[in-house]
Amino acid sequence: MTVRLLLATRNAGKLAELRRLLSAAVPGVEVVGLADVDDYPEAPETGATFAENALLKAREAVRYTGLPAIADDSGLTVDALNGMPGVLSARWSGRHGDDDANTALLLGQIADVPDERRGGAFVCAAALVTPDGAERVLDRQWRGTVIREKRGSNGFGYDPVFVPEGLDVTSAELDPAEKDARSHRGQAFAALVPVIAEVLSPGRS
Ligand code: IMP
Repeated sequence: MTVRLLLATRNAGKLAELRRLLSAAVPGVEVVGLADVDDYPEAPETGATFAENALLKAREAVRYTGLPAIADDSGLTVDALNGMPGVLSARWSGRHGDDDANTALLLGQIADVPDERRGGAFVCAAALVTPDGAERVLDRQWRGTVIREKRGSNGFGYDPVFVPEGLDVTSAELDPAEKDARSHRGQAFAALVPVIAEVLSPGRS
């Protein structure tokens, strides 16, 4: 029997990544995205943490579709800014999704912070919620340093100013597959795979 599992996203890259991870480990699960279900009104992300936002989005997806659902929430936490932009990463400059403005504002804010204190992490929380009320959430981080000028043209968001620990290129200079394998989101999805297997148990009925 095939179980349909909704990943509450319109991002084709995220869908492909979860499908790849799941197909090897949990046969019998078909991952669908928001483009494959009827439209529903998506509430604003009001949670105080990545985990809360991921849970809110997954619960909302279950409520409207009746399918077990996964949702993720992510952002950049900068040590010198006490963890900000954090859950406000996508709208840090005041305009949702304006990557250039968000990055320029962040670089200005930490312009006087010396190199040795420019650490931070991309964080991703991933939540799984089922129609019968099971809820699981976890988060993973990818530590690195915020540099002073943008480098690279892959990726999105703050990628051009983030040099992951152990590398000397930015995450915008990694090819997409390499980034997925290392990133906060890749790690969170990978960690969710055994949880999905346990909660959905598709092979057992
Ligand atoms: P979300 O869409 O609410 O999860 O917010 C994600 C925001 O965090 C994006 O708009 C980016 O600003 C930032 N972000 C999250 N993950 C990444 C990443 O992998 N690279 C660069 N920026 C990221």
